[in-house]
Amino acid sequence: MAASAPFRIVHTVCSHDCPDSCAVLVTVNEEGRAVKVEGDPSQPVTRGFLCGKVAKYLDRVYAPDRVLYPLRRKPGVAKGPLPRGSEHESFERVSWDEALDAIAAQLKQISDRYGPESILPYSYAGTIGVLGFGSMDRRFFHRLGGSQLDRTICSEAGGQAWNLVYGKKYGTPTEDVRLAKLVLAWGANIHGNNIHLWPFVEEARRNGARLIVIDPYRTRTAAVADWHIAIRPGTDAALALGLMHVILNEGLEDRAYIAEMTHGFERLAERVREYTPERVAAWTGMTAAEIEQLAREYANTRPTMLRLNYGVQRSQNGGTAVRAIAMLPALTGAWKHRGGGGQLSTSGAFQWDKKALERPDLAAASPIGRLARVVNMSELGRALTELGRDQRTEIRDQKDSEQGTMNSGQEGTPAPDGPAVHALFVYNSNPGAVAPNHNAVCRGLMRDDLFTVVHEQFFTDTTDYADYILPATTFLEHTDVQGAYGHYFVQLSKQAIAPPGEARPNVWLFGQLAQRMGFSESCFRDTPEEMIRQALAIGEDGHSKNANMEHITFEDLEREGHIPLAFYAEPEKRPFLPYTSGSVPTPSGKIEFFSETLAAAGADGLPAFIPPIESRWGAAATKYPLELLGRKNDNFMNSTFANLPGHRKMEARTSQRIEMHPTDAQSRGVVDGERVRVFNDRGSLELTTMLNASLPAGVVAARLDWAKLHPDGANINALTSERLTDIGGGATFYSTLVEVAKA
Ligand code: SF4
Repeated sequence: MAASAPFRIVHTVCSHDCPDSCAVLVTVNEEGRAVKVEGDPSQPVTRGFLCGKVAKYLDRVYAPDRVLYPLRRKPGVAKGPLPRGSEHESFERVSWDEALDAIAAQLKQISDRYGPESILPYSYAGTIGVLGFGSMDRRFFHRLGGSQLDRTICSEAGGQAWNLVYGKKYGTPTEDVRLAKLVLAWGANIHGNNIHLWPFVEEARRNGARLIVIDPYRTRTAAVADWHIAIRPGTDAALALGLMHVILNEGLEDRAYIAEMTHGFERLAERVREYTPERVAAWTGMTAAEIEQLAREYANTRPTMLRLNYGVQRSQNGGTAVRAIAMLPALTGAWKHRGGGGQLSTSGAFQWDKKALERPDLAAASPIGRLARVVNMSELGRALTELGRDQRTEIRDQKDSEQGTMNSGQEGTPAPDGPAVHALFVYNSNPGAVAPNHNAVCRGLMRDDLFTVVHEQFFTDTTDYADYILPATTFLEHTDVQGAYGHYFVQLSKQAIAPPGEARPNVWLFGQLAQRMGFSESCFRDTPEEMIRQALAIGEDGHSKNANMEHITFEDLEREGHIPLAFYAEPEKRPFLPYTSGSVPTPSGKIEFFSETLAAAGADGLPAFIPPIESRWGAAATKYPLELLGRKNDNFMNSTFANLPGHRKMEARTSQRIEMHPTDAQSRGVVDGERVRVFNDRGSLELTTMLNASLPAGVVAARLDWAKLHPDGANINALTSERLTDIGGGATFYSTLVEVAKA
């Protein structure tokens, strides 16, 4: 559109944590105000539409309660939950200069006194733009010597599990799903949070495909499936092994594919002999006949597409579950058929130059001269309350004796290595809502010897504990580059509008802070365009040096907005069939049914079903017999969007409800619509019952929400634990036992 036109249209990319990574066209008027957002019709997966969350995105960008200026906690105001709508009264506006100078000074002081590892970044996928997710921030913390964060909270268990089998996360192209004759959605609420896959599923169904959904909860997707299988939470590995048992028992495997492409088949075949349909039925709640029917339908249909999503891996045995499920298309040779195969994520195809972006070499110049210790983000409560406990207790002793009170340090838990956390720098995340073991996290955030900075767009559960709140941009307000975990396009997200107020992207924030800290390396002054070129590893000939991106130049990307990866340039002429020829990037060069890597580490080289400690088979079930499903909302993105009235309205039906099977309600003497207490040893929450006969008996479901929007000031994470997954050290949100009683 001509520059003199009253409107211009800018190509951006939705950077919310969603596989679809939509190309978003933003219409901007003469005053520089965005007036419309719409899906780019020329992007083959976006296809011109946006989900309900982002279709009204301007409500978020121009929300009256956005944080627009740097804020400092007023002297004497205690940390802790603040009434919604009046948070600003606890903070005072400061300039960016004041805020950056004060934060830099405080970080220096903490680093000098306790060592730089006492400073902990905490971030995740509030933006999945390549720069915004991890670039200048990583440089900053490497140079500082701050603790490294193991970013495990969402996908690490599943990602590592998939890579144990296949080496890299590739998957069936989303656009090819239209060719499938069976879509098996396993823990995948396609309609709720992968909506751009849905039209391809519908097209496949119009052409005769069946949709089978495996999910303990009757999601929107499950409700419209041909067959919804509501297995018990955490039993996915058992079901996958049971399906393999039937497939092998009946000779439905693809022997030629197995011989050519896989490793460890004989050992797997031996292992699955014990997973008879009858045994698996007892764990999953299915009948043996249903397990046999599912196995036959899966193995006999061509093409068969397995859409596996990350919910499966958020249980204690979640890594093994993903590993076992991922083996199914290798057993049946489903990868050979266009439209068949599977998809957990396509992110392995995007080989960004992370070294150039994150600069781990800067750690050598930090005060510790090496890469810092690693803290697992799924154990934030422990990190804030137990790490370096002795050292912190000493400090608290001094403070307490000054105040004439007794020390209240925790007893009885071992103190891990390294200093206590004395500064927490939160960006791209809202741990006050999303981190497991909410009460422990809040105890940590309440510490008066913890300095907390939060870079955010709104007042959240986390900003209530901040010493400084810094205003953050939305994806309309900064430039970034992005891949996807649900398609194969590299996309440029151009800045469409000036940030409102004084909001700034985290790339700018950490560059500025580095300079105030006296870090003289020139990389802290890189511009976003320079960093995008670095991410793309643009060489002297103007082309990317990254695998699969060699055909891409920055200029092409600027002009086109989105460019397919090299192997996906002509999908009709050269369909992409992952894992069908050549070697696979595993140690054996084959798809691994048996993992020598795991075996060498003393673990089981084969998948096996071990019931989670917090499940109906665990000892704690005698006290807390109900398995809790902490549900994500279809119209929120984890905790993002939960503050917007329009989005809340769309989730009103289950807001602050605990869904129960009628038999579980009856045995507790509670009825529909009654106020109950949901509790375990970690916490308690009052909710209203909602009877739901589609849940398996013994399973209750409640959705994740902001703690501060609940009268108890807590959310379902008051009930979840910091126990980690079997692979990848991920969070185990879906291995949680509770009891329900009348309030
Ligand atoms: S949240 Fe997902 S579906 Fe919605 S606009 Fe963003 S990328 Fe697209």
